[in-house]
Order: sequence, then C-alpha cells, then structure tokens
Amino acid sequence: MTSVSTSLADQRRRQREHDDQRAEHHRERALVLRQNRSRDQLKAIALQASEKFADASTDEVLAWVAEEFGYRTAVACSMADAVLPDVVSKHLPWVDTLFLDTGYHFAETIGTRDAVEATMQLSIVDVSPKRTVEQQDAEFGKDLFSRDPGLCCEMRKVEPLAETLEGYEAWVTGVRREDSWLRASTPLVDWDEKNGMVKINPMAAWTFDDVVDYAAEHDVVINPLMNDGYPSIGCAPCTRRVEPGEDPRAGRWAGLDKTECGLHS
Ligand code: SF4
Repeated sequence: MTSVSTSLADQRRRQREHDDQRAEHHRERALVLRQNRSRDQLKAIALQASEKFADASTDEVLAWVAEEFGYRTAVACSMADAVLPDVVSKHLPWVDTLFLDTGYHFAETIGTRDAVEATMQLSIVDVSPKRTVEQQDAEFGKDLFSRDPGLCCEMRKVEPLAETLEGYEAWVTGVRREDSWLRASTPLVDWDEKNGMVKINPMAAWTFDDVVDYAAEHDVVINPLMNDGYPSIGCAPCTRRVEPGEDPRAGRWAGLDKTECGLHS
C-alpha cells in the first residue's frame, strides 16, 4: 500500500514538473517574435542551405535549424511514432509539434498523441479543420473521404496546416525517400513554395528500420499499430493493414488513385 501511494505521488510530482517545464517554455516562446523575414529572404536561405547540407547528417541539419530559426520552427507529426519530434527536440526542447486532428484518427493514434504530450519535452499543437466531421457530413454528404478524398484531405489537413504554418519560418517533416518513388529525391533542406517557408526533411535518408531502431534505442513512444501491420498510419477510414512484403504505403487510400494527402506536393 505504501509503495503504491509513493509511486503515485512520484508520478504526480514528475507530471507537475513536466507541466511546469512546458509552461516555462511557453512563456519564453511567447517572447520570440513571429515571422519577421520576408519570403524572398527565407527562399534565399533555403536554396543556399539545400546545397550546403545536401549530404549532411540529421544532427548537422538540425543544429543549423536551431541556430537559424529557433522557435520559429514547427515539427509535423502524424503520431505514427514520435521519432521525428524526439530527434528535433534534442536541439530544440519543447519545440511546437503540430498534430493534424482530422477527427478521423484511430483511437491508438489519439492515445499516442496523449502519451507523447504527457512524457516528452514537446509542445503539442492540435491543428483542427474549420468543420467538425458532423458539420462536414451535413454540408458535403456523409463519408466524403469515400467519394472525394482529395477534397476531404484539403479541408481536414492541407488548409488547416497552411494556416497554422503562417506563424513559423520553417517546418520539419518526417518524409523519407524510401516512402515512395514520389519522395525518392527529397532533399534535406527545401524551399516550400506553397507555404512560403523553409521545409526541412532531416530523416530523408532514413529507412523504416532506422526509425524502429531509433525508437527502441531511445525509448520513444510509438503507435501500437506500427507493430500490428501498419507501417504508415493516417486516418482510419483511409488506412488498412499491409501484408508482409507489400509497399509500406500500400495501405493508404488503398484501391484509389491517390497516394499523398497533398501536404508534401
Ligand atoms: Fe479525409 Fe481520408 Fe484525407 Fe483523412 S486521409 S482527411 S479521412 S480523405
């Protein structure tokens, strides 16, 4: 009985410390000015860095990101795993980590998001669409994803992310070259013309095994679905389990002429 209550007290104390550290970061973050460099300035920085860091290591790129952009950096995280924000937070503790809360996630993905927020030195920012799923159903008809997934992704992912990114100068993604042929030439540093900001892909050269090994070695939270046949995890209605040997992204929009949600095109 005593050890249980001690352990509970320890847990509460650790959680309080964690919450205090996050609050302190938010106070410091509020002092950081919002984007104050022009689109042209950022583009010049991106093009120069793209060449300079063409063959750099993940850590070299992220050390530069921390110095160049500081907390004007956001990390995109699908909550398939928290490897990307963990790697970034080594250079930028409490970095803003954007989670696209589409309203269609697996329960395991929401659980992963909550576990990440409770245990890791990250500031989770939930990015929500303008319409709830119910409002979208009422306006566009039920299950839009089955009739027009392009429009559904545009309203639930692309638009809300673009609006949120306006407050930053650079965003960091987990895009990897081996994901698909469309991503095969992804650079480590890129210019994102659509969003008018610098795009960093520090894990471009990583393999799926690199991600799994890093998560195990650094005790990083991963979505339990990753070990249940889902190497790529998106919204529940548009993601299925893949068979051994299948393309890792074969389970995304399976049977449809769609392979990307539009965030990276
Ligand atoms: Fe809609 Fe599917 Fe895109 Fe999610 S992945 S936003 S459910 S179309």
